[in-house]
Amino acid sequence: MKFLLKRADAKLTGIYMKDSLEVAEDMERTERLDRAGKSRSTKGQSVSRRRESYNREKARSGVGKAATAVIAAAAICLTAVMLVIYNTGVSMKEMNATPTGGMPINLSASSEPQAVYADTEGQDFVQLSDPFLVLVNDQVALPSDWQVTPAFIGEETVDNRIYDQLKAMFDAAGQDNIWLWVASGYRSVDEQEGVLQREIRLHMDNDGMSEEEARELSLRTIARPGHSEHHTGLVVDLNDVSDGFEETEAYRWLSENAAEYGFVQRYRSDKVEITGIDNESWHYRYVGRENALEMQRLDMCLEEYVEYLKGQGVR
Ligand SMILES: [Zn+2]
Repeated sequence: MKFLLKRADAKLTGIYMKDSLEVAEDMERTERLDRAGKSRSTKGQSVSRRRESYNREKARSGVGKAATAVIAAAAICLTAVMLVIYNTGVSMKEMNATPTGGMPINLSASSEPQAVYADTEGQDFVQLSDPFLVLVNDQVALPSDWQVTPAFIGEETVDNRIYDQLKAMFDAAGQDNIWLWVASGYRSVDEQEGVLQREIRLHMDNDGMSEEEARELSLRTIARPGHSEHHTGLVVDLNDVSDGFEETEAYRWLSENAAEYGFVQRYRSDKVEITGIDNESWHYRYVGRENALEMQRLDMCLEEYVEYLKGQGVR
């Protein structure tokens, strides 16, 4: 299905999201089996590299299915409420304006910023004042006062502050017949905790591991809650979230153009020793146009760039 898709149209993104997720889910299922075997055979080696991808875990854990069930339940409740309201004579017009569950939702911002609370570990790191340069990694937790204003893109959300540039980038790619879509955007700390717990349970049930063993293995592929860059809302995992993405025209297009829209590939193969995360050709982080172009010129990842700026006296 995904091979037939052409354009980065927001509406199409919503409609076809399910197909792409299902493809990712199938690929992931195969990969996971391989990986469980491989990880066990490399046990005891240093745990410095990990995958940061959430989409894999999400596809596996059935969060999407649970969400569909919640939406369905909400729709039933809404119908009941509407019937009650109808019977009490309240106008139906306002109710009809409410978006219905399951429909593709166009990009739009909600009104109020939401605080996202993380653990306090790593809070002694001094962040730069530019919020687009916030650093979140295995050592540095999401700042405890970080706020996200969700904007919908397909079935995913991102922080509203990156919406315009993301949309502009998708539109420009579409002009070049490159189709980009968001497989995974903002993710709360609670969601991440749920993902981790499910993975631990899975290893305990299926691989006969102790809780400690299962946790250790799970943390090789899943970022600790509070330490995923997806908590910032400034990040998108694009398209099918697979290693094969690096071989696509879409990836080539991004390599040439993403910085113009303020996005950088966050985890590169030549920076693994610094970021601690394996090459992720699909994970793009918004840092702002000027910063992105400068990072490209200096050939630096975000950890290096933040240190570099601090050295230049930037606060
Ligand atoms: Zn990611």
